[in-house]
Amino acid sequence: MSKRVRVRFAPSPTGGLHLGGVRTVLYNYLFAKKHGGEFIVRIEDTDQSRYIPGAEEYIFDTLKWCGLEPDESVQHGGNYGPYRQSERKESYRKYAEQLVKDGHAYYAFDTPEELEKMRHDYKTEQNPSPQYDHSIRMNMRNSLTLSPEESQQLLAAGTRYVIRIKMPEHETVSFTDMIRGEVHFETSLVDDKVLLKADGMPTYHLAVVADDYLMKISHAFRGEEWLPSAPVHILLWKYLFGLENMPQWAHLPLILGPNGKLSKRDAAKYGFPVFAMNWKDPNTGELTEGFKEKGFLPEAFINYLALLGWNDGTDQEMFSKEELVERFSMERVHSAGAKFDYEKAKWFNHEWIKKSEAGSLKSEVRNLLPGKGITDISDALLGKVIGLVKDRCTLLTDFYDQSWFFFKAPETWDLDAVKSKWNEDKKNFFLAYVEKLQSLIEWNAVALENIFKELASEKNIKPGELQLPFRIMLVGGKFGPPVFSIAEALGCDETTKRINAAIKIF
Ligand code: GLU
Repeated sequence: MSKRVRVRFAPSPTGGLHLGGVRTVLYNYLFAKKHGGEFIVRIEDTDQSRYIPGAEEYIFDTLKWCGLEPDESVQHGGNYGPYRQSERKESYRKYAEQLVKDGHAYYAFDTPEELEKMRHDYKTEQNPSPQYDHSIRMNMRNSLTLSPEESQQLLAAGTRYVIRIKMPEHETVSFTDMIRGEVHFETSLVDDKVLLKADGMPTYHLAVVADDYLMKISHAFRGEEWLPSAPVHILLWKYLFGLENMPQWAHLPLILGPNGKLSKRDAAKYGFPVFAMNWKDPNTGELTEGFKEKGFLPEAFINYLALLGWNDGTDQEMFSKEELVERFSMERVHSAGAKFDYEKAKWFNHEWIKKSEAGSLKSEVRNLLPGKGITDISDALLGKVIGLVKDRCTLLTDFYDQSWFFFKAPETWDLDAVKSKWNEDKKNFFLAYVEKLQSLIEWNAVALENIFKELASEKNIKPGELQLPFRIMLVGGKFGPPVFSIAEALGCDETTKRINAAIKIF
């Protein structure tokens, strides 16, 4: 690779970041790190009508949670700023003007009414939504149909205008996509896209090309939905900066939901999150749940996302971020859409929770507890409890259901499971056990189990018949991790209290 690798994720701040967006970030990040290059985030906010306050912060918070932080951005700085397009407004006009001068673009003065009339007049059955293109432009009010003097007069009079690209009529535009190979477009099928809007802002098409050039982007990876815009971008590169300077393109496959394209709009219907983190629409107040809040670990989330469209050619499924950096290659991304499978996503999370050290899960789990009324819990106990129950959690949010009995005593007991076999001997066993516990020097599961078994054999009761009642005394039912480990975590006072309380009930 001759050029220094510089890649960019270029979101428009229009809402929450959905699975496909995060995967685009991930592939950009992996590629940059693999090749020792830079990963840049550029905020594409030229469409002021779609701007949503809070969306930009949300994007950065999400990248932080995912562990995919950029090297350059509005928040991280860098030598190619500003990294927000609205702040680069002045830099785009000269390119649009240059294109007009070179005959590749033109001023269009058509009013909204005239455009509406065009759409009405040229509408046919074969062409239900006519576009402003080579077949129509010579019938419209623009600098191609007006004399140079007339155009100058309109400009001088401050008439509202846009600058449109003049798409060549019968040309084939081609480029090599890193995923799809050779891609060809017939230019006469593409309309004369607006490059500079009446408010002086560039459109996405002009801004993306100018900024990829100015920011020295070497590779541009983006969703497949941008493929139809590629011929416009390629021509702009050819006209303005030279094709030899153009980044290498890759258009990433769609992520499919249960019924086709996974859309943000249908998020509520799926029964699983489509956004990385909770997103609250500031206009409607509507809250869309995120993977983070659902209880996913970022490691699991990016591991699964990486495999939605890519594999390393082996059967390996579990990858750390570092392994992904090492193995990733754009050539191994497939062009067909990748189906999102929520059960599989949960499987990854379960595996990652199991794999994680209890200590590394503490802060995530601690954040979940106040919502359940648990506020005062020591770090040591939390670590111990996580170690005992993590293998039983698919989502971090399962943690409470799997462990609540460490934090509060049971208020009900599964009496059906003990009553029929409960007798005076067993009661006496537990009274004696409690007594022994008071003088136990080393409070740990092994010691607790040893004296339990010794005492059982002294009293001639099978320890197996005592373990279930002991469990029900401590947690209320037939569930939870090994019973002596529970007692170890609860400590002497609490274990004693629970045994005594249960004896009264049994
Ligand atoms: N601003 C575009 C978006 O919102 C970026 C497309 C590109 O990466 O070129 O997705």
